[in-house]
Amino acid sequence: MAEHMTLQSVDMIEEVVSAVDAASDELRRLSLEIFNNPETIFVEFKACELLSNWLENRGWKVSRGVYGLKTAFEARFSLVEGGRTVCFNAEYDALPGLGHACGHNLIATSSLASAVALEHVLKTHRFPGTIVVMGTPGEESGGGKWIMATNGAWKGFDACVMTHGMRNFSTPLCLTKASWKLRARFHGQSAHAATAPWTGLNACDAIVHAYTAISMLRQHLEKGSTIQGCILEAGKASNIIPDYAEGLFSIRAPTMQKLDELKSRFEPIFGAAAAATGCSVELDWTALYEDVVSNETLAEQYRNYMIQHLGIEPEQLLTLEESRMLHDQPGCSDFGSCSYICPGIQAMFSINATDFPHSIGFREASAGEFAHQEALKAGQANALISLDVLINHDFADKVKAEFIAVMKKGGRWNRHLVFIPREIYPVQGSFRPMSAGIVS
Ligand SMILES: [Zn+2]
Ligand SMILES: [Zn+2]
Repeated sequence: MAEHMTLQSVDMIEEVVSAVDAASDELRRLSLEIFNNPETIFVEFKACELLSNWLENRGWKVSRGVYGLKTAFEARFSLVEGGRTVCFNAEYDALPGLGHACGHNLIATSSLASAVALEHVLKTHRFPGTIVVMGTPGEESGGGKWIMATNGAWKGFDACVMTHGMRNFSTPLCLTKASWKLRARFHGQSAHAATAPWTGLNACDAIVHAYTAISMLRQHLEKGSTIQGCILEAGKASNIIPDYAEGLFSIRAPTMQKLDELKSRFEPIFGAAAAATGCSVELDWTALYEDVVSNETLAEQYRNYMIQHLGIEPEQLLTLEESRMLHDQPGCSDFGSCSYICPGIQAMFSINATDFPHSIGFREASAGEFAHQEALKAGQANALISLDVLINHDFADKVKAEFIAVMKKGGRWNRHLVFIPREIYPVQGSFRPMSAGIVS
């Protein structure tokens, strides 16, 4: 491979574009099959089989049930040993009761489009390098990529890119928050609420205590940090002291560093509520969403290809600066965990939906032809920047140098080496109920 080979020098741009265009009908079929058979968090068995079988039939080496998740897969394609490795993430989970209202069928399609294009280029030019399609389930509420990351996914890859549909704007830059999800289970002791309440430990009081303390904490949150929560269960009848209460909570902050700080103020609330009521509490940090760290070298190049070669007008695709100013997302993406391990972007493309993601309007647009074509175009741009990583040494070095610098500056470097995957631990309240003997 020549030291300064570029896509233009061998006309690979046209090869990428035409390979995706030729696969359009087949990719639409796969997208609609996933769309019409929605499967939720970690039970995406049909979609996982559909995509992994399809890649296997094309000659890819496929491993199923990888990195700690039954419905994850990793597919690899390489013809000549050595070279760099690029990855495309395919999501395929749907929302409970709403189906594909986040358009993850389009994410799968877009990443397969990139994969098909690079497979074609590798077959034509036979240079060293590996393409990977990572099947990543459970994005919605499951933090699937966090689980995969803690089990070794994406290690040593030179880039990993993916896309996501958006209601009405397109950007190469995804900005999301870091978030932990917590399930808290308070355990008390039941008693007759009128006859012998002193023999009980009130789990409803404990969770209300925690909820109230969280409300007080909100005044002291830094800009960009938020806490959401709901009580799922807190008793069954008014004449029984509730012995069990359960709630779900999310804390969010702009970066993982800020999230760690918020967690250190948030978590003691539950121990304090247990102490105040004599209950015990079990804290189950169920899913972590690290903030997405977008590689700006990749993002700029994505925009360049879109405008110079894929027919997008400059005003149709936000600049990086506009993205930072206008679209700082209050939400989260589990792509954050991936972006802490190797350089990457999650570009967003408009699907012209009547409503935001997680709505019926967004679901309807996710099955439409406009969304399909935009997903393919995003897949073409991602294929082109990934091809740059494979063949253009200077570009690959620049991508890597930016990644290392940003990780070190943000205190993110090697975070996964010291990371504890999942924490469930009990906190015991400090007093016991009075004995029943006091009744008389
Ligand atoms: Zn979603
Ligand atoms: Zn989504």
